[in-house]
Amino acid sequence: MPPVVTYWAEHAWLPHPNGPAVQPEVRIAVGPDGRIAEVVPRSGPCPAGAVRLAGLALPGQANAHSHAFHRALRATVQVGSGTFWTWRDTMYKVAAALDPDRYLALATAVYAEMALAGITAVGEFHYLHHAPDGTPYANPNAMGEALIEAAARAGIRITLLDTCYLSAGFGAEPTRHQRRFSDGDADAWAERAAALKGADHARIGAAVHSVRAVPAEQLGTVAQWADSRRAPLHVHLSEQTAENDACLAAHGVTPTRLLADHGVLGPRTSAVHATHLTEEDVRLLADSSTTVCMCPTTERDLADGIGPARQLASAGCPISLGSDSHAVIDPFEEARALELDERLRTRTRGHWTANELLRAGTADGHASLGWPEAGRLEVGALADFCVLALDTVRTAGAPPRLGAETAVFAAGAADVRHLVVGGRHVVADGVHRLVPETGRALAAAVGALR
Ligand SMILES: [Zn+2]
Repeated sequence: MPPVVTYWAEHAWLPHPNGPAVQPEVRIAVGPDGRIAEVVPRSGPCPAGAVRLAGLALPGQANAHSHAFHRALRATVQVGSGTFWTWRDTMYKVAAALDPDRYLALATAVYAEMALAGITAVGEFHYLHHAPDGTPYANPNAMGEALIEAAARAGIRITLLDTCYLSAGFGAEPTRHQRRFSDGDADAWAERAAALKGADHARIGAAVHSVRAVPAEQLGTVAQWADSRRAPLHVHLSEQTAENDACLAAHGVTPTRLLADHGVLGPRTSAVHATHLTEEDVRLLADSSTTVCMCPTTERDLADGIGPARQLASAGCPISLGSDSHAVIDPFEEARALELDERLRTRTRGHWTANELLRAGTADGHASLGWPEAGRLEVGALADFCVLALDTVRTAGAPPRLGAETAVFAAGAADVRHLVVGGRHVVADGVHRLVPETGRALAAAVGALR
């Protein structure tokens, strides 16, 4: 089959038997199925008819943990003091202003911001299911479907992680603000979630909000729902020591142990944050091949602490990255934070290689969202990639062969020049072609909630 479109990148970060490496003059042909048909490094000058991409092509970044509506909190939660729990009160007020139309507008703009940052797939951890008083909408999945439509309008892929959220704490009824999150019980959650449909750009997964929000005896229902569909299953885990204390008081075990005992951990599961773990918790996560999704810009924003990412990775957990609360949306900042946090903690350098950190943000992140065929620039993979400019004030002067180090340790979202999803050129020369005035769209969508 002849290629539908051929791109030519000045440089690209490509897989290699000795480990990924930056190659020059890389021709990338995309077939009619939106997959990569050909990758040819050192192919010579840009051929006639090909789309020339100046800079460094990388696989698309996977944003493995997102709550799109938190984007509306930017700056407003940076005044005053407090903790995760006081931040959460502000977050609930914003949630109360959302309905399906407003969420469609907001999420479209947020996902367009993600596209501009190099992100080709988002894992949306979605629990705003019902009207603010808890009444289901006429279409009980109106909010989730708005998110799927938003990703389509922004030109990126989505895994909608429909989230079971039933209680305010161990044995506690949902609070007034949490009523719209709850389906009543896990069986009702499963029935509603089963009506969600994927699409070319969308896959459906499940989430347990946390051990606080799903009673232990109902965890298995969510796990079985995901398992029977071979779908991703995500769960917030031990972000706060208060969760660990409450779980120990209620069940006599850590949250990780509780999840393990109820069949929640496994190779299709992602534990998000995993900040405060015991040695046994690390072993349970690694032995079950559970992915751990780190969200370092949010974890530092919320004063959570530094999770044991290096220890988990060394023990055998794949690592993914997420921008979670969207204090910033910058996958390169998330990646470098893993290394830089570890340097501050240990006062030594060099815990992660740039290649390892890029892998977390690309192949392992996509796999954690149920897109194992994305996240690599190789034949047969989905043609999802981004291109970083190497001539900006942040990136200029670095040797191109150290493109991975430049991407992780110097570049940022503002250096992303192109984004291609399924072969489609979504961001060209730094402009989103589907949501061209992304800043204006964000301002309007956030402003509508005030
Ligand atoms: Zn979260």
